[in-house]
Amino acid sequence: MASITLDQLTKYFGQNTAVDRINLDVADGELIALLGPSGCGKTTTLRMLAGFMSPDDGQILVDGRAVSTKQRTVPPERRNMSMIFQSYAIWSHKTVFENVAFGLQLRHMSRDEIRSRVTRALEITHLHRLADRYPSQLSGGQQQRVALARAIVIEPQILLLDEPLSNLDASLRDEMRNEIRRIHDETGLTTVYVTHDQGEALVLSDRIVVMSEGRIQQAGTPEEIYETPATEFVARFIGRCNVLPGTLMRSQQVDVGGVLIAADDLAPGVSVGQDVALSVRPHSIVLDPIDCPTDDVRMNCFIASVEHQDYFGEFREYQVRIANSSVRLSVVTSPNVRHRVGDEMYLSIPKEHCRVVPITTRATERSHQFAMTA
Ligand code: ATP
Repeated sequence: MASITLDQLTKYFGQNTAVDRINLDVADGELIALLGPSGCGKTTTLRMLAGFMSPDDGQILVDGRAVSTKQRTVPPERRNMSMIFQSYAIWSHKTVFENVAFGLQLRHMSRDEIRSRVTRALEITHLHRLADRYPSQLSGGQQQRVALARAIVIEPQILLLDEPLSNLDASLRDEMRNEIRRIHDETGLTTVYVTHDQGEALVLSDRIVVMSEGRIQQAGTPEEIYETPATEFVARFIGRCNVLPGTLMRSQQVDVGGVLIAADDLAPGVSVGQDVALSVRPHSIVLDPIDCPTDDVRMNCFIASVEHQDYFGEFREYQVRIANSSVRLSVVTSPNVRHRVGDEMYLSIPKEHCRVVPITTRATERSHQFAMTA
C-alpha cells in the first residue's frame, strides 16, 4: 500500500488548463473519489497518476518519492498501480482464469504462484465458480468483477478506477459499488475512484474530492461535503439543495431579493457586504398550515404559497414562493403531507440548517439563476 501526494499538479491542453495547481494528500489505504461534472479534469488527473500523461507543472509523489514531474515520468508498468477503465477491456478468447492470470504470466511467475494468486483474486471477487467461463457467458457485473480481479491479482500498491460502473444498469451499479467497497476493505489498497455520480461517491468513499474547472472545490468526508459545503458549486452539485444568491448583512442574515433569511453557519471566505449564496436542504424546511412550528425559528418564518408539487413515492417535493417576493424554494416532505397548488401556509427555515457559502458562478449566470430559483 502507499500514500499519494499531488503537489501543485497542473496540465494544459493548448490554452485550456485541464488541471489547475491541485494539491491533495491521499493516505495509505484510503478510498478517495474524484467527483465533478464532465470536463472538470478528473480523468486527466487520474491519467497523470497512472503515468499515461506527464504534468506540465507540479509533481506526484508516492510514499514521498516523485513518480511524475515535468522533467521525468515513471512509466505506467513501473508504478505498481492498476487501472480499471469504463470499458473493462477483458479478452473474449480467454477464460476468466486466463484473463486474470495474464498479467502474472507477463511477469514470468511460476505456475504454482500464478494458480494461488489467481485463486485468491477470484475468491475476493466472488468469481471462483466461474473460472472456466468465457466473457460472453458472463453478465455485465461479472465482467466488471473480472476486470477487478485482474487489477488486484498483480498486488498493486494503488488501484485507479475511471468511471468503472458507467456501463452497468442502475441496480447492478448499486450492487457493484458495494462490491468495490468490500474488495477495497478486504485488500486495503489505496484507491482513487473517478466518477460524476454523487450517489456513488457518497456511498463508496472515505473522502470525496469535488472538482470544477480543473480545481479542487472541496475535499472532505461524505458527511462534510453534504452537510457543510465549502462553496456554492459544492452545494449545488451534491444532493438536492436550495441555493439562493444574496448579500450577507451585518446581522448574519442574507438579503435574498429583499427577503432577510438568518443563517447560523458561515463558510470560510464569506464576509459582510459580500455577494454570497445561502444554502439550505429542501428536507430541512418545514411547511405548516396553522403556525410557525417553534418560537426559535420564527425569525425565519414566512407566509408562502405552493406553486407546484411532485410525488416521488418515498417523498413529495413542493415548489413554494415566499409571499410578496420572487423567492422560490424547494421543500421535501413525507409522502403523507398533502398540499394543493395555491395553498398558503407557514414556511419555516431553521437557521441552524442555513449555511452561507462563497459564490462560484459568474455574475451573468447568477442573475439567470436568480430569475430561476429566487
Ligand atoms: P468526463 O467526466 O467527461 O470524462 P473529466 O472531468 O474526466 O470529464 P477530463 O477528461 O480530464 O475531464 O478533461 C478536462 C479538460 O481537458 C476538458 O476540457 C477536456 O476537453 C480537455 N481534454 C482532455 N483530454 C484532452 C486532450 N487529449 N486534448 C485536448 N484537450 C483535452
